[in-house]
Amino acid sequence: MSEENSFVNAKKQLENAAEYIEIDDDELEVLKKPKRIVEVNIPVKMDDGSIKNFSGYRVLFNDARGPGKGGIRFHPDETLDDVKALACWMTWKCAVANLPFGGAKGGIVCDGRSMSDGELERLSREYIRRIYKYIGPEQDIPAPDVGTNQKIMGWMVDEYEKIVGKHKPGVITSKPVELGGSPGRSESTGRGVSFMIREAAKRLGRDVEGMSLAVQGFGNVGRHLVRSAHEMGMKIVAVTDAEGGVYDDSGLDHKKLEKSMDNHGTVAKASYDKITNEELFALDADVLSPAAIENVITEENADGIQADILAEAANGPVTPKADEILDEKDVFQIPDFLCNSGGVTGSYFEWVQNRYGYSWTIEEFRDKLDKKLTQAFDEVYRTHKRKGISMRDAAYSLSVKKVVDSMRSRGSL
Ligand code: GLU
Repeated sequence: MSEENSFVNAKKQLENAAEYIEIDDDELEVLKKPKRIVEVNIPVKMDDGSIKNFSGYRVLFNDARGPGKGGIRFHPDETLDDVKALACWMTWKCAVANLPFGGAKGGIVCDGRSMSDGELERLSREYIRRIYKYIGPEQDIPAPDVGTNQKIMGWMVDEYEKIVGKHKPGVITSKPVELGGSPGRSESTGRGVSFMIREAAKRLGRDVEGMSLAVQGFGNVGRHLVRSAHEMGMKIVAVTDAEGGVYDDSGLDHKKLEKSMDNHGTVAKASYDKITNEELFALDADVLSPAAIENVITEENADGIQADILAEAANGPVTPKADEILDEKDVFQIPDFLCNSGGVTGSYFEWVQNRYGYSWTIEEFRDKLDKKLTQAFDEVYRTHKRKGISMRDAAYSLSVKKVVDSMRSRGSL
């Protein structure tokens, strides 16, 4: 997806973490490899009558702690290595959040934005026809990610249920509410990031109310992060997306941003001063949150970051070299797989309800989400303090140890 190879970075991060736990080299080599890679070709009849072939992947990275869990991406620059990295990060994410899941991820190389609804539906259904044997509520459970949404999950659930001839809502999470989705799920990643920011602020002896926030990305994560940060009394000073961005030192109105996004597909049309991505990264805001894609904070721009807290809402937004720079600058980083674990935690709640036929209220859902994420943050923070290591290394060492323990108990290490 970018010049940096995310899978190389993911393996490097794992090697760093291995220094803090008892694990030998052979075991580390096993941990670095995905358990299963499924690669499919997906022919789709396009609206103009032509047939186009798309490449699709589903990677199960590790399922020692439970069924694989992780989203499906639609992106024109998707590569198998990106999917492997994302599946690897899902493994640590589910472990750090104390969920009974392993890590997985899927992807289709396509530019969903230039496709009609009909083409997207045929692509989504055909992908499921080709991977259905490898997914299921007790095997591997997809969800949305960059370029996919609830509507696409709805087609996928329906196709899966038609194939197996049973109702299996727990096969995919973050699906439409009328198909068994949970009302709190789609906001849960962004909302979860705001809980993480609140906890980080507390540990730094500050009150989140009145703190300023700059966000890169206004997709599902950025939008809900901004909304929920606003509810907490934070001041949103800048937001950018792929088309541009806006800035106001006295605070942006989140409703105006949403309106601009809904009407024009970008926040940049809201009537505020304009700002670029690079300017946003260098802004003197209390909190900076990259909430789009990976490898956006690199050795090129890390030194310019002035924020006190970096809330890594995207997956893999900081490269290992940038990480070292930020560490030296004493930026308080909430590592990605902890910071955005509200999404998969919300997915876990949806999966539990599907399996038991429960239907929780949104208040119950939000309350459980807050408790679970606060606990995950606390565990990582304590390890960070006790061992005197970075928040990222603390999160890695905790989660890798949990996965290694499960693998050892199974006799697979
Ligand atoms: N795509 C989200 C993530 O990267 C959610 C995954 C899920 O809910 O399974 O965490």
